Amino acid sequence: MHYTITPEPAKGILHIELTVKNIDTPTLELQMPASRPGRYQLANFAKNLLHLESFGQKCNSLAFEKITKDRWRVHLNGASEVKVRYGYYARQMDAGGSWVDESQVYINFINCLLYAEGYLEEACEVVLKLPSDYQIACGLPQPEPHVLRAVNYYRLIDSPLFSSASLRHQFYQVSHSTFHIWIQGQAALDWEKVVNDFRNFTQVQINMMGGFPDPEYHFLLQALPFQHYHGVEHWNSTVITLGPTEKIPAELYPELIGLASHELFHVWNVIRIRPAELLPYDFTRENYFPTGYVAEGLTTYYGDLFLARSGFFTPEQFLAELTRTFNRHFMLSNTAALSLTQSSFDLWLDGYTSGVPGRKVSIYHKGALAALILDMEIRKETRNQRSLDNIVQLLWERFGKRGIGYSHEDYVQLAEEVAGKSLQNYFDECITGIVPMQERLAEALAYIGCRLEAAPLPENPGNIAIRIVLGEENENFRKWLGMV
Ligand SMILES: [Zn+2]
Repeated sequence: MHYTITPEPAKGILHIELTVKNIDTPTLELQMPASRPGRYQLANFAKNLLHLESFGQKCNSLAFEKITKDRWRVHLNGASEVKVRYGYYARQMDAGGSWVDESQVYINFINCLLYAEGYLEEACEVVLKLPSDYQIACGLPQPEPHVLRAVNYYRLIDSPLFSSASLRHQFYQVSHSTFHIWIQGQAALDWEKVVNDFRNFTQVQINMMGGFPDPEYHFLLQALPFQHYHGVEHWNSTVITLGPTEKIPAELYPELIGLASHELFHVWNVIRIRPAELLPYDFTRENYFPTGYVAEGLTTYYGDLFLARSGFFTPEQFLAELTRTFNRHFMLSNTAALSLTQSSFDLWLDGYTSGVPGRKVSIYHKGALAALILDMEIRKETRNQRSLDNIVQLLWERFGKRGIGYSHEDYVQLAEEVAGKSLQNYFDECITGIVPMQERLAEALAYIGCRLEAAPLPENPGNIAIRIVLGEENENFRKWLGMV
């Protein structure tokens, strides 16, 4: 599939031409993705599509009909090549959107590129008609200026692009990979500190995972003039949208580092260590999966834990961060009706809204809490010989590296193998069940010499507010944070 993209900045429109060649069927079906990997919610990108025309190789108009809300059938009338032209309204500024104006072109290809059914595995090329002084930041190879190639559509749509004449760029090397930091926007950052902090958490992650799976990685940061906080993971890049700009070097700096660490860990967890239900991803409909507690729960837990291990957070700061994360669960959904696996399945229903009181839990917050509890259970059982780190490493070795999707049952089995005992009680209560977690958390924290303080919230019956109190530093605590 070959795409040509011509931005019209004043109107916020991308003019897109898709060419598909060597077609030997009487019709060709074209699909606009209904959602994007990383946000398990229908987005119906077709609603931004402005008009559509199709032509054969002799520029003759080809008839087409719309067969679902985001699918078209083109009648080839003997043609072996189809050109489809359409406009896409690109004015959604967040980490999963696309935006074009006089200052930049920012595209998440999943938002706006139609694909032809039967061609998902074929190589793709994108030619961008950009001003000559525009630089491109993207995880895809650029064989020529403003031209991108992808091995297939899956990789293309997992490679967002920043382009402008004002992109700022720094890079660093860890292991055998180069990590690029690109910034669009005015944030006045201390580059030396930024690169140093990024390098440190990158090194800690690579140490745990035994190498980095790609020679390149790109952090794409949009510094925005308004309040904003969002990040999305990709194959070898991430988009982070953060604001307001003037706060990024100060109050928002830990948020930037926290997001970056979280998104980088997704390179393994969810991008490559992939739930079986998402392999391959179906762009036409919901992709239900129960293991959001692994994909986002473990990533939320490790995102901050790596920052403690890399020295960015002091132990006190890290525990304060954990307290904040856990309280989002305890203060809102301590006695919610749905388990983690059920809430993961229901991401497609209300995963990105606060939802009705007492219904669901957050796969991020309760997922991170469940991760800590499992980590401590294994450390205790094996006298610190093994931990949750080993589960992630095995997921990588046995599933991620081999391109095999894992199921909830695979995860249970792997966890039990690492723990060397049955974890049925843990999974029944914390993952597939809805037993409140306060007691288990208190026990887990006691193992690392910390204490849990909890207070009921009278205005919010059933919910509590917690505080994690750092006790005398102990050996288990230091091992957990990689200090010994
Ligand atoms: Zn995430």
